[in-house]
Amino acid sequence: MSEIEKVIIIGSGPAAYTAALYTSRANLNPLIIEGEFDPEHHPDLPGGQLMITTDVENYPGFPEGITGPDLMTHFRKQAERFGTRVETAWIDRVDFSERPFSLYAGKKGWKASAVILTTGAGANWLGIESETELRKTGTVSACATCDGALPHFRNKHLAVVGGGDSAVEEATFLTRFASKVSLIHRRDTLRASKIMQERALKNEKISIEWNSQVSEVLDVSQKKVTGLRLQDTGTKEERVLDCDGLFLAIGHTPNTAFVKGQVHTDEAGYILVDRGTYTNVEGIFAAGDCVDHTYRQAITAAGMGCMAAIDTERWLESQG
Ligand code: NAP
Repeated sequence: MSEIEKVIIIGSGPAAYTAALYTSRANLNPLIIEGEFDPEHHPDLPGGQLMITTDVENYPGFPEGITGPDLMTHFRKQAERFGTRVETAWIDRVDFSERPFSLYAGKKGWKASAVILTTGAGANWLGIESETELRKTGTVSACATCDGALPHFRNKHLAVVGGGDSAVEEATFLTRFASKVSLIHRRDTLRASKIMQERALKNEKISIEWNSQVSEVLDVSQKKVTGLRLQDTGTKEERVLDCDGLFLAIGHTPNTAFVKGQVHTDEAGYILVDRGTYTNVEGIFAAGDCVDHTYRQAITAAGMGCMAAIDTERWLESQG
């Protein structure tokens, strides 16, 4: 077990590094614990969702755009410049029932007076091999807001999988750039709110493939999306839908399993915060996509990371 840290920040995305930047500059000497890459058990790269984003064109301050990984490198360098320390470990257990708080990665442990949770959320994927392969080419994405305006998707036929608000919203958003958008849903009714459904159904560029599941993303051998093999969920018949890009909108899962029962979360596992970034446990703060299922942007996560740092600093001060 280490000496008692003033602040430990768990996570490595924009919320984590912004919280680290602010707490470093407040002389709190923060320690970031970034998740360890493990393809089998936790396949997300440290750096969060930006590490799987190609070009980021909507982060203010970069008029020419910047790649997701480059943006994360900037975040990290800036925080390290003010003394942030970074350790790599997968926190699998915490004890927030007494102070100082305890964090564990296997047998290794840390103690901290305050903790900022910024572990993010991962997009859900179908999990089929062709999808995993083609994600590397930038023609399969789980974020239309991030990638939809990229040149290789313009005036193309794009497909969106899902039937909830995200899928309908993303399909509608993509019609600004695409020549046509096919929404692929596994049932015959949408889950999305009525108003969003109506907007999508009225949009002439959107057509819906009902009762359809993607069984294969084509074409791995061409290293880009050329179509989808769809299976009818009722008859099991297969057909091919030609398209040039695929967007998944089948929900996100917050990376909060390790704090279950320690801080209040909603049913989906998103951490509940009050008065800015305060959780129900005094001294534990939360920011970014592990809290926010609405905006999910790098800029909003960074903003919340800043809020968490200021809340933490004030709370520590109040403790004397
Ligand atoms: P969601 O409501 O959970 O919808 C996920 C959709 O993906 C469902 O239609 C589901 O199908 C489908 N799906 C799940 N797993 C699948 C799989 N393996 N294969 C194929 N389809 C699969 O998620 P969401 O749309 O991301 O929304 C999450 C929350 O954010 C909701 O509360 C939503 O209202 C909110 N939200 C609001 C807005 C807005 O108001 N502007 C925008 C986005 C999200 P089934 O329907 O068959 O289960």
